Amino acid sequence: MKPVFIFDLGKVLVDFDYTIAARKIAQRSNRPPSDLHTFLSTSPLLVQYESGQLSRLQFYESIRDAIGFRGSLAEFGGFFADIFTEMPAMTSLQANLRQNGFKTYIFSNTNDLAIEHVRRNFPFFSNFDGYIFSYEVGGMKPQPVIYEAMENLCGRSGADLIYLDDREENMVAGAARGWQAILHETPEKTHTAIASLIG
Ligand SMILES: [Mg+2]
Repeated sequence: MKPVFIFDLGKVLVDFDYTIAARKIAQRSNRPPSDLHTFLSTSPLLVQYESGQLSRLQFYESIRDAIGFRGSLAEFGGFFADIFTEMPAMTSLQANLRQNGFKTYIFSNTNDLAIEHVRRNFPFFSNFDGYIFSYEVGGMKPQPVIYEAMENLCGRSGADLIYLDDREENMVAGAARGWQAILHETPEKTHTAIASLIG
C-alpha cells in the first residue's frame, strides 16, 4: 500500500507574516505596530484560540479589550487572517503526489479565521483528502491528541505516514510515533528526502 502524506500548513504550503496583521490592527488601536506584534506573539490568547479554548468571538473580544481595537469582528478578522502567501514549490509537489495516487492531508496548528481565509483565497487548499486542525481537535502539535486524530482520519499509522513540518518539536513528535518525519527546511531538501523514501 502507498504511504500517505501529511503536510503541515504554515511555512510548508503557505508562508505567513504576522507583522502585516499587526500593522493593520495597530492603525485602529491605541498601540504601535511593534507593540502589537509582540503582543500577538507572546500573549496566551492565540494559543488558547488555536487550542479551541476560545471561540472566534471570544478571541476578538479579548484582543479588542486588551489593545483598544476600534473595529468590528469582521474588520478584525480581515486584518488578522490576510497574512498568507502560497509557497508554489511545495503546493506543486503536493499536486504532483496527488496526481500520482498518493493521499495527502493537512495537519495544522491554526484557527478558524485563518482557515476560512486560506480556503477562500488559495485553490490548492481544497485538493487534499482530509484536514486536521488544532482548534477543532482541542490540542496543538506536539501534543499526542492531534497526532492520534490524524491517524484516525487517515486510517494509517507508523511508517505509513510521511510527514513534513518546519518545526522540529512537531516533527520529532511524529517520528516518535514511527511516522517517517521530514524537517522541512527548503523545497530542494524536502524533494530529495521524499524521492529517497518513495523512489
Ligand atoms: Mg509550520
